[in-house]
Amino acid sequence: MQEALTVDELQRLESLRSYAILDSQAEQAYDDIVSLASHICGVPIALISLVDEDRQWFKARVGLDVAQTPRSQAFCAHAILQPDQLMEVPDATQDPRFADNPLVTGDPGIRFYAGVPFVASSGMALGTVCVIDRVPRTLTPAMAVALKALSRQVTALLSLRRTVAELRLLTQAQAQQQKQLDSYRKQLEEVNRDLSEQTQRDPLTGLKNRRAFDHILREELSRAQRVQSSLGLLMVDVDHFKPFNDAFGHVAGDAALQQIANVLQAQVRSYDHVARYGGEEFAVVLPDSQQEEVLAVANRVRAAVEAMPSAHRSFTVSVGAAMAILIDTPTRLVERADKALYQAKHQGRNGVVALDGDATGP
Ligand code: GH3
Ligand code: MG
Ligand code: MG
Repeated sequence: MQEALTVDELQRLESLRSYAILDSQAEQAYDDIVSLASHICGVPIALISLVDEDRQWFKARVGLDVAQTPRSQAFCAHAILQPDQLMEVPDATQDPRFADNPLVTGDPGIRFYAGVPFVASSGMALGTVCVIDRVPRTLTPAMAVALKALSRQVTALLSLRRTVAELRLLTQAQAQQQKQLDSYRKQLEEVNRDLSEQTQRDPLTGLKNRRAFDHILREELSRAQRVQSSLGLLMVDVDHFKPFNDAFGHVAGDAALQQIANVLQAQVRSYDHVARYGGEEFAVVLPDSQQEEVLAVANRVRAAVEAMPSAHRSFTVSVGAAMAILIDTPTRLVERADKALYQAKHQGRNGVVALDGDATGP
């Protein structure tokens, strides 16, 4: 008995393993090929044999009960030495390579063998499609042609197997990349949200800043004009704040502004917008509000600041109120509220003035 090794055996084994087919599940397509081989050649045994390092393993088989045999006994190990040729052994007992092979001398008693190697994309033979009989015989030319065709089918199946595996890997990699991208996008969105939040907030009071106020007023005014709803604007200025700052310092002044901001926020309705307009001046946008409601909020704000407990001295605010009209611009609306505020200051502070002269005081 002779050992049969191909010249570039290591590369051949590497190529074989790259298909991840050894010890894989049975598959109909391969089973069909051995079934056809057995019928066409009229033999009891047909195999798709893969020649591994020290065994031959059968991807598909008919007429044989074992899933593998030692490589040293494998006829196919000889067949793959010439990848492009059919190897035919009419009577193994007469062939010095196989006469003492246990598969010949013992079970299953091989006499006839014909195998056609199938090759990997690397050009190396990985195994054979082979037919076996327990009596000596030969293949007809038609049988040989068919066996070669079946072997080419195995080559095609292997190449398909590789393509499917590669596609699966590619799909997995793409899914992974997509996941990574989604996560980056989420992070970016969060950062953007934070940034956008930061650009809209006044850091001292946490209220909306002037930039946000301008945007909100523009939006709310155009909405009010579009749906013809009533919109009010309050400008709220802390009275005599400079003397407070001068007397108690900027830190105390900052704390007072924070406190006043909280009071304002607490007095308005959830859909009103309070903003720090600048310095010690605040603005309140009141959507969907008639003049009475606007003045009611203004008075609540004024009274709440007056009632606000303070470490150093109490505070008051003056409030100017203006109602939007159909042809208003944000600037004109602010100007009228400012004018009303000026009047409230002029009238002695701690009061509310609506521009049409509808002033209410403490
Ligand atoms: P009036 O009743 O006429 O409004 O008098 P007022 O003193 O409040 O007005 P004025 O415009 O003269 O002064 C506003 C003061 O507000 C001046 C400034 O020091 C103070 N101020 C503005 N922004 C801040 C701030 O962020 N922190 C502190 N602590 N003070 C501020
Ligand atoms: Mg002031
Ligand atoms: Mg001011």
